[in-house]
Amino acid sequence: MADYDLVVRGGTVVTGADTFRADVGVVGGRVVALAENLQGKETLDAGGLLVLPGGVDTHCHIEQLEPNGTINEESFVTGSTACLAGGTTTIVTFASQFKGHPISHTLPEYRRRAREGAMVDYGFHQIITDPTEAVVRDEIPELVASGIRSLKVFLTYDPLHLDDAAYLRVLAAARRTGAFVTVHCENYEAIRWRQAALMADGKSTPKYHAWSRPRVVEREATHRAIALAELVDQPIQVFHVSCTEAAEEIARAQARGVKVWAETCPQYFVLQASDMDRPGLEGAKFMCSPSPRGPGDAELLWDQVRRGTIDVVSSDHSATSYEGNRGKRIAGENPPFTKIPNGVPGLTARLPLVFSLGVNGGRIDLNHFVRLIATNPAKLFGLYPRKGTIAPGSDADLVLWEAGKTVTITNGLMQHHIDYTPYEGMAVTGWPVATVKGGRVAMRDGKVQAEPGSGQYLPRGPYDMIRPRGALPDGFDASAFIV
Ligand SMILES: [Zn+2]
Repeated sequence: MADYDLVVRGGTVVTGADTFRADVGVVGGRVVALAENLQGKETLDAGGLLVLPGGVDTHCHIEQLEPNGTINEESFVTGSTACLAGGTTTIVTFASQFKGHPISHTLPEYRRRAREGAMVDYGFHQIITDPTEAVVRDEIPELVASGIRSLKVFLTYDPLHLDDAAYLRVLAAARRTGAFVTVHCENYEAIRWRQAALMADGKSTPKYHAWSRPRVVEREATHRAIALAELVDQPIQVFHVSCTEAAEEIARAQARGVKVWAETCPQYFVLQASDMDRPGLEGAKFMCSPSPRGPGDAELLWDQVRRGTIDVVSSDHSATSYEGNRGKRIAGENPPFTKIPNGVPGLTARLPLVFSLGVNGGRIDLNHFVRLIATNPAKLFGLYPRKGTIAPGSDADLVLWEAGKTVTITNGLMQHHIDYTPYEGMAVTGWPVATVKGGRVAMRDGKVQAEPGSGQYLPRGPYDMIRPRGALPDGFDASAFIV
């Protein structure tokens, strides 16, 4: 007698808290039982494998429209394929406001593209580039009510960056509406000044990307982002922390009780500034911001992960191809580094890299791994316990993981649209052999089977974690006023 639609049988279930032997019984796309000897209409053998919650990637750029009319090369179909191939079943991606335009100018188009293409479940962060009065008064409350509960701001990059006044307006709007804020922390003016001087000195090849934005530029902006968030009493997450100097600013604020969280990305464990010093344009393959750092930085970053300062590892998949004239060569064959698009691909490689370096490398345990790649991002972005764990009632998003399998990364295995991976040739131990999304097998032995449009939109309601703590200077809530 089959009680379940699907039983994942004989595996070792790993959550953010526990590791135990159990079959997983699924009905109607949800986990309903964790027990021994379950019988299902369909059985997936997990003997000798770990059964993990599906990866949750809360920082990835998919099919993002740019003001210059271009579209991020990774589509919802190809991006979802890469996610499923790498064991990720949920993403929070971005909708971007174009400067000088209302949010409503672009948001419906993002929603349409995701609805038609996504094969993983998805939510959005709304990028705010122009917090006009109409945006903060009318549009932000509307989009939060529609389930987009996080705003993303850039403190650097033309034409995205916000000055302190604009950043404060976004923080205040978030506090009024119960939204969360994520921040790209680098000092815009400092980078522009360094870039101009490097150009004046003829230092324009990709390796000088790192010189243009050293650690102190990130550290300063991280400190300022937190201080202003503290002024407003608005919780934030600092995106893609690349170095311990920035993490120390976060740790100090956390020790004061400030609600600030931090994310890093696999590229900061693996890539180094020296990777950008390769012949010709080859170094452009490793360009992202913040920049990859020096030889000792990754180990210091792992320390910050172990201490809990950094509790999420996302991909920041923000990728452009190497060949052709769209991606890294959009400004020609020999562009100065300032004209080369930033970003590296990482949707598929995220779990294998963090597992291999983290668990296999003896730096973190299995449950800590699950927390970094699934549980903590789900909690921080209001998706838990539907996502990020394996428990009765949670979505049946599962990864069957072969802990001892060694794989040499190739671009073909990544299954993304991008024509390269910065991890080409790197051997990792630990690999997803099957991905289950919503109770259906969506990837098996690298073969992805899912329908475009099968991914569900995840509206995010209010949740306790991001509630302001009520610590206001002089007890005065300046964010109550639209100024
Ligand atoms: Zn990003």
